[in-house]
Amino acid sequence: MVGLSLLTLLCCISATTQKEFKQAVLSLTHNLKKLNEMNIESKRILLVVAHPDDELLGVGGTMHHLIKNKQCTVKVVILGEGITSRSDTRDTEKWKQALEVHRENIKQAQKAIGFQEVSIYDFADNRFDTVALLDIIKVIEKEKEAFNPTFIFTHHGGDVNIDHQRTFEAVITACRPMKEEKVKTIVTFETPSGTEWRASTDPRHFVPNFFVPLAKEDIAAKIKGMESYEFEKRAYPHPRSPQALRILAQQRGVMIGAEYAEAFNIVRTIEV
Ligand SMILES: [Zn+2]
Repeated sequence: MVGLSLLTLLCCISATTQKEFKQAVLSLTHNLKKLNEMNIESKRILLVVAHPDDELLGVGGTMHHLIKNKQCTVKVVILGEGITSRSDTRDTEKWKQALEVHRENIKQAQKAIGFQEVSIYDFADNRFDTVALLDIIKVIEKEKEAFNPTFIFTHHGGDVNIDHQRTFEAVITACRPMKEEKVKTIVTFETPSGTEWRASTDPRHFVPNFFVPLAKEDIAAKIKGMESYEFEKRAYPHPRSPQALRILAQQRGVMIGAEYAEAFNIVRTIEV
């Protein structure tokens, strides 16, 4: 880029590309304008994640904020058991004790954030590609029907983790925007140690267009919840360490002039 002015750069790209670029900017601006008008107060929110700890990593601070300050009711659906990929073959007997501890950790994390409800399933860890997508979709459909949410948070579809990808695909399929569909908004979050590890050549990058400014207490609750997970927490500079989570929240915050924030991507929102 050295020596190239923006004007020179624009002259170098084709008229078609310029048009596409303009349309992308207009679309983003339109989405952002809509978001300013989007009110998350008192919503029933379903948070659909692949593993225990994902409910904290990308969205824990925001959930804490929405539950404490915006009167939202949040149900977390954890699809996978999150443990058995640590051995070469899936052996639930071998990991029995760890699986029990992991489930207990979910409750501690729930307490830190204040989630009103949690459902836990046991799809095989890092093997979501070995089950029919339909089986995962059926679970999400059942949870949707029981909880009746209008808003869903889930994984970014371009994460490096196969379970995250399949969770995203299942949510999108389970929420086809037909007239009777009650879920009006689908938002994806970034998962430190997953989203940023995608190959740079893969076009499915996480590009945030929705930010939630957070208070110090929201980030503290998120970190406390994450530290509940004995098998998942790590020391700095791992992305799941307390320091790294705080740094990411600060980085997302400074992007919007706030001390802390979490960043999201809106997949779809339908005006009601
Ligand atoms: Zn995960």
